[in-house]
Amino acid sequence: MSDATLADRRAALEDERVHLRHQLAELGYGDEGRLDYDQNFADSSQVTAERGEAEALAKQLKETLAEVEHALGKIEADTYGMCESCGQPIAPARLEAKPAARLCMDCASKR
Ligand SMILES: [Zn+2]
Repeated sequence: MSDATLADRRAALEDERVHLRHQLAELGYGDEGRLDYDQNFADSSQVTAERGEAEALAKQLKETLAEVEHALGKIEADTYGMCESCGQPIAPARLEAKPAARLCMDCASKR
């Protein structure tokens, strides 16, 4: 992978990280990490349902964020773009579509 491509992937991952952190903060999962609902509405079943949805969404966002952090760590470690299962390079088109991909197409399809 060329340095320019790697720089593009890093920029995409950093953008995604900012975006994910922003979404988490909007859900109330900022750096302080706790959901903060207005206590006056705490007994409303609608809020309970919304909280469940927010928690499910936050969980998904956190998982995606962890993938993005992991990919950025691989860039630092100079192993970015290598499949974590077979060690072969991941196809550039796959990384372009999914910069945080850990596995090549073959290995991903075997799971
Ligand atoms: Zn593989």
